[in-house]
Amino acid sequence: MEEKILRRIFNGFIYIHILEHAKRKPFYGTWMIEHLKEHGYSLSPGTLYPILREMESTGIIVKEDININGKIRKYYSITEVGEKVLTDAREKLKELKMEF
Ligand SMILES: [Zn+2]
Repeated sequence: MEEKILRRIFNGFIYIHILEHAKRKPFYGTWMIEHLKEHGYSLSPGTLYPILREMESTGIIVKEDININGKIRKYYSITEVGEKVLTDAREKLKELKMEF
């Protein structure tokens, strides 16, 4: 039960985290999995990719094939809508932080 609720809360953090990085620099899936691990979130590809797909289908990130030394990788970056969502999320975070 506790775990279920925590997972739901962390999911929101993960969305914000992904958006933040998509804004800074395009990233690819395995990079994000490694990066989130450093932050203490262990996500399998089977968990991350559906999240990325959902973010893509809501239009907050876009996927692009980039050829790096003959290897095609899918890079994700933020869209204009995503930037707006991130701005709102940051505001909410700031507001929440003030409560604690
Ligand atoms: Zn990060």
